[in-house]
Amino acid sequence: MSLTIADIAVPINQNKTFHYTVPDELIPSIAVGARVLVPFGARRVTGTVVGFPGTAVKEGLKKVLEVLGDPLSPDLMKLAHWMSDYYLHPLGLSIETMVPRALGTAKVRTRRFLQLLEGDHDVNMIRGPKQSELLFLLCDRQAIPFEDLGAYSSATIKALVERGMAEIVEKAVEKIPEQTAFVPDQAPELMPEQVEAVRSISGTMTAGSFEVFLLHGVTGSGKTEVYLHCIAALAGTGKGAIVLVPEIALTPQLLGRFRKRFGGRVAVLHSGLTDRERADEYRRIRAGLVDVAIGARSAVFAPFPKLGLVVVDEEHENSYKQDDGLRYHARDVAVVRAKFQGAVCVLGSATPSLESYYNAKAGKYRYVRIANRVDHRPMPGVSIIDVRTQPKASVYAPALVAAVHQRLEKNEQSLLLLNRRGFSSVLICGDCGKAIQCPNCSVSLTFHKSERKLKCHYCDFHTAPPERCAVCGGVNVKPLGTGTQKVEEEAAALFPGARIARMDSDSTRGRDAHDRLLGRVDRGEVDILLGTQMIAKGHDFPAVTLVGAVDADVGLNLPDFRSAEKTFQLITQAAGRAGRGDAAGEVIIQTMNPGHYSLRHSMTHDYDGFYGEEIAYRTELGYPPVRRVVKIEVKSGQERTAADAAKVARDRVRFLLRGKETTLLGPAPSPISRVRGKYRFQMLLLSSKRETLRMLAVEARKAVEDTFKNRVQVIVDVDPVNLM
Ligand code: ADP
Ligand code: ZN
Repeated sequence: MSLTIADIAVPINQNKTFHYTVPDELIPSIAVGARVLVPFGARRVTGTVVGFPGTAVKEGLKKVLEVLGDPLSPDLMKLAHWMSDYYLHPLGLSIETMVPRALGTAKVRTRRFLQLLEGDHDVNMIRGPKQSELLFLLCDRQAIPFEDLGAYSSATIKALVERGMAEIVEKAVEKIPEQTAFVPDQAPELMPEQVEAVRSISGTMTAGSFEVFLLHGVTGSGKTEVYLHCIAALAGTGKGAIVLVPEIALTPQLLGRFRKRFGGRVAVLHSGLTDRERADEYRRIRAGLVDVAIGARSAVFAPFPKLGLVVVDEEHENSYKQDDGLRYHARDVAVVRAKFQGAVCVLGSATPSLESYYNAKAGKYRYVRIANRVDHRPMPGVSIIDVRTQPKASVYAPALVAAVHQRLEKNEQSLLLLNRRGFSSVLICGDCGKAIQCPNCSVSLTFHKSERKLKCHYCDFHTAPPERCAVCGGVNVKPLGTGTQKVEEEAAALFPGARIARMDSDSTRGRDAHDRLLGRVDRGEVDILLGTQMIAKGHDFPAVTLVGAVDADVGLNLPDFRSAEKTFQLITQAAGRAGRGDAAGEVIIQTMNPGHYSLRHSMTHDYDGFYGEEIAYRTELGYPPVRRVVKIEVKSGQERTAADAAKVARDRVRFLLRGKETTLLGPAPSPISRVRGKYRFQMLLLSSKRETLRMLAVEARKAVEDTFKNRVQVIVDVDPVNLM
C-alpha cells in the first residue's frame, strides 16, 4: 500500500506541525489547505494540511481519518503562515482564528437527491405506473430532492436505482439569499475631492496592483461615499471587497447605506450571528454569491477567492487589535492580505493613527486628503473651559450648562461625552491639573490602592503618593475620574424636563440596544445623549449641534504612551458629531490642562500640528511608530511566582541584549495588576529591528516556560495597543 504523508497543523499551543499518513482513498480529495479530522492523543481534532513532506513511509504514524469540507485557499494559508510568524503564535491556533467555529467541525450541510444516470434507459424494464411516472419525472428534472419524492415509496425509488437508471447523491447546499426585487439608491454626485479620491483608488484597482491608500478626510467629508464608489467600480471584475468597521453594533447607519446600494450581495458578519449562520455567510462569500463583506476585525479573513479592495474604516481605532489568543491587528493584516492577493487597501480616518500617517509620510502608503466637509459645511467651533477656574460644586461648568439650555430651547440635540468609566488609578493635582508622572518614561504613574504606592508600569520606578504636587506645590492631590452615574444624576437635576439617555456598555448591552437607542436619537426623541467614547464614533446625527467633553483629562492621563493621541482622536471625532446638518455645531471641552497640545490642536482641527508635536515626543523616547514594540506579560495566581517569572524573562533579555540597539522597560506590575485572580507583570521591548525583538521575545518566553512549566502563563504581544 503506498502512503502519502501529510504535514498537518493542529490547534494546540505548540508551534509545531505533525505528520500523518493519508490512506489511498483520501488522496484524491486532500490538498494543502484541506481541513482534516485526525487522531491527536486520545482526542480527534480538526487540523489543516500545510504540506506534503514526501512519500517515504515512516513507522508508527497515525492516519488521517477524514477529509472535511471548506478547505482554505492558498492565499489564506499564506496569510496564516505570515500571522503565525509575525505574531509568534502557533500556526494551528492562528488558522482556527481565521475560520468560523462551525466550519470543519460540523459536516457540510447536504441534501439528498435522486439523480438520473446517463444512458439509454429501457422503459420496458420498468414495472408499474409509479415507476414509469418517476422515471419520466426524472428525465424532465434530472435531479429531485428527497423531500419532493413523498409521493413515491422507497421500493419505487429503489427499483430505479437497482436498474441503473438513477442514483442517490448528497449535494452540499449553499444558502441562497432571498432575491427580493432590489432597486439601488441613487448615489449623490461626488464633491471634487471625493472624485479625486475615487479616481486614484479605482485607477490602481483596475491596474490590479497592490497599494495602500491612507484616506485622510475630515469628519463628514464623505469617506463612506468614496468607499461605495470604489466598490461599485469592482462590478464585473469578479473581485470582492471587504469593509472593516471598528464595531458592527455601532454602525447600523453605515450598514444601511451599503444595503441600500448593493442589496443582497452584501454579507454582514456581525457578532449576533450563530455559529451556523456565520459558517453559511462564509460559504456564500467563498462561492462568489457576495460582492461585499462588512464586519469587525475577523471579517479581514472573509474568503473571497478574488479580492479587489479592503477598506479599513476608522483605521485608528484600537478595537482592530485582538486582545487575546492570536493578538493580530486587523488593519495590519488587511494590508498584508491585500498584498498577497494583489488588492488595494484603503485606510480611512479623520484622525489617522500615528503609525499610518508615519507610513504615508515615508512614502509607503499613498496619501489622499479630503479637507472639506460635504457641501462645505463649516467645522464646528471648539472652545476650552479651564475647570480649575470654575465653581467646584458641579461637574458642568456654567458655560456648558448655558449652551445645553440654548439647545433645549431650539429643539436641537446635545451630546455629553464622559471618559472611561470609573478610571481612577491616576493621581492628579486638583490645583494645576498635572498628573503625577514617571521621571523616566513620561507616562502617568498608576496608583495601587492596596499598597498605597504609585508605580510606573513601563520601568520599575515606584514611590509613595506625594502629599504635595511637584509642579505647583498644591495639597489637593486626588484620584481622577467621575462616574457616569453621578454625571447623569446631575444632568437630570440641571435640565429638568429634558429627555436624557445614557449610552455606555452598561446601559446598552444586548443585541439591539444600540440600534434602538440610536434610532431614538435619530428620530429626535432624545434631547441629551450622555455617554462614553462610544457616542463619539462615526454616527451621523444631523440634529446634534453641541458636543461637550465633560472630563477630557481622564484620557489624557492614562498610563499609556498613546494617551495624547487617543485624546486628540476622541475630541476630534466627537467634534465631528456636531453640526452635520444645516445648523452649525459647537464643541466645549472641560479640562484642567487647557494648554495641552492634544487639546490645543483639536480646537483648531489641526491634525498636522498635533502630529508634529506627538512624533517629536515619540522620537525622543523611541516609542512607536519610530521603533517597534513587543510586550511580554507573565501571569500567575501567586504574586511571588509572577514576579520571579518576570525576573527570569528580564535576565534572559538582558543577557541577549548586549550590543543591540534595543530598550528594555520593566518588568513592572501591569497597571491593572490583578485580573481574574492572576497577578500580572509586564515588560516592553523597543527596537527598530523586528528580528531582534522577535528573537528576544521567543527566548524570554522559552526561558520562563522552561523554568516554571505551566505555573506561569507567558503572553507575547507584538505591536501592543493595550498597555493596561
Ligand atoms: P465621513 O464618513 O467622512 O464622516 P460620510 O460619508 O458619512 O462622511 O458623509 C457625511 C454625510 O454627507 C452623509 O450623510 C452622506 O450621505 C453625505 N454625503 C456624502 N457625500 C456626499 C455628496 N457628494 N453629496 C451630498 N451628500 C453627500
Ligand atoms: Zn517609568
